[in-house]
Amino acid sequence: MRHALVRNEFVLHYQPRIDVGSGRLIGLEALLRWQHPRFGLLPPARFLSILESSGLIHSAGEWVINTACQQLASWQQKFELPDLSLAINLSQQQLKHGRLVETVAKAIANNALDSGCLEFEIGDGEIVRQRSAELETLHGLRKLGVRLSLDHFGTRDVSFSSLDTGVIDSFVLDQSLIQDVEVNGSHQRIIRAAIAMARGLDIEVAAEGVETIPQLEFLRSCNCDLAQGFLISRPMQADKVSRILRSEIAGTRLLSRSAP
Ligand code: C2E
Ligand code: MG
Repeated sequence: MRHALVRNEFVLHYQPRIDVGSGRLIGLEALLRWQHPRFGLLPPARFLSILESSGLIHSAGEWVINTACQQLASWQQKFELPDLSLAINLSQQQLKHGRLVETVAKAIANNALDSGCLEFEIGDGEIVRQRSAELETLHGLRKLGVRLSLDHFGTRDVSFSSLDTGVIDSFVLDQSLIQDVEVNGSHQRIIRAAIAMARGLDIEVAAEGVETIPQLEFLRSCNCDLAQGFLISRPMQADKVSRILRSEIAGTRLLSRSAP
């Protein structure tokens, strides 16, 4: 795996995120893949834990940040979309490393990006509350002006106080809540309550794993802000995103193409 970085075998795929109200593509999430010479394209589930346990997540994470920022700047300029946003996932280990803030600051400066267009997704709500090295990094990132988001919301313990620190700008409802929302009354109530709470705390809500029109309709009825999932688009390579951005500018919405 150490050689994978040197041999340039990591690639980023990007999954579009739409504004639920208008259907407009407003941003993308960068998702890491390993183009393995023998096993083909591998998802993070096959290698992320090895990156994390070996400490290679720091250099791989740096590569992700630099590549994603460069790509975002290129799309913003080419398609004149200065507000296009990009979400980047962070592992908890990366937050313990003081260099992360410097890496992000350099990537923003080198690509002349507006920092508000970048969002970093973190997995654990508790670290937002604790006085820790992670919290210091989160504050450092906030100072740069980037947005912070809690990923997989609804699957882990998150205290109210951790959400009310002003550190978190948004959360991503976990796909396990979305996948059976058409038939699961409990998930419907949880999602409604989570969105109402987010409104009160001035936090934006995205839903991931949206696969059907009824799921999207339900999210729309709850005033969920953003949606992402196979219904809208699968994650894809950068050149395919460019084609989609071109059609978006011409007025063709992603969903009208992918709806059944
Ligand atoms: P995540 O951040 O929750 O990303 C969403 C995952 O759900 C992606 O899996 C995506 O392919 C998948 N997905 C999107 N829409 C749908 C849908 O409609 N149905 C279903 N069944 N799945 C959908 P992926 O790419 O395998 O990534 C898995 C996780 O790996 C991510 O979950 C994230 O936590 C982590 N990850 C991905 N890229 C990076 C990275 O660059 N750095 C770090 N530290 N973690 C990453
Ligand atoms: Mg994510």
